[in-house]
Amino acid sequence: MDVQRAAELSGRLRERGLRATGPRVEVLGALEDLGDHRSADEVRDRLAADGRRLPRSSIYNVLNSLVGAGLVLTADAGPGAVLYEAGREWHHHFVCRSCQGVFDVECVVGARPCLAAGTAVGTVDEAQVIFRGTCAACMTT
Ligand SMILES: [Zn+2]
Ligand SMILES: [Zn+2]
Repeated sequence: MDVQRAAELSGRLRERGLRATGPRVEVLGALEDLGDHRSADEVRDRLAADGRRLPRSSIYNVLNSLVGAGLVLTADAGPGAVLYEAGREWHHHFVCRSCQGVFDVECVVGARPCLAAGTAVGTVDEAQVIFRGTCAACMTT
């Protein structure tokens, strides 16, 4: 990672009240480079490919702090690992039953929580909607 990129990422971490530690800068950078929705293992592999080996527990800790700061979003796409993506705009996900592709679905409200729980469970601060079906690409094959 070049100095300029590291400085830019560090600035965004500090802007959100996080100390710009090496692992935070590297994980956020790797997630942005990968793009899309990625598991913690994919982030780890990407860093390892660049010669930077971080234990899985560190990757999870860093991802959690980035999620807490609003720099990374999670997608609970169903069975399997939680997926992470760099970005701030709150949105939902569509998971294709055929190719398992994960696609962003715009949130009509645009901020959480965009749905209220039907029953009085307590205070809701987030509602993730997973849409399932067949994606456009799979429908044409
Ligand atoms: Zn598909
Ligand atoms: Zn997404």
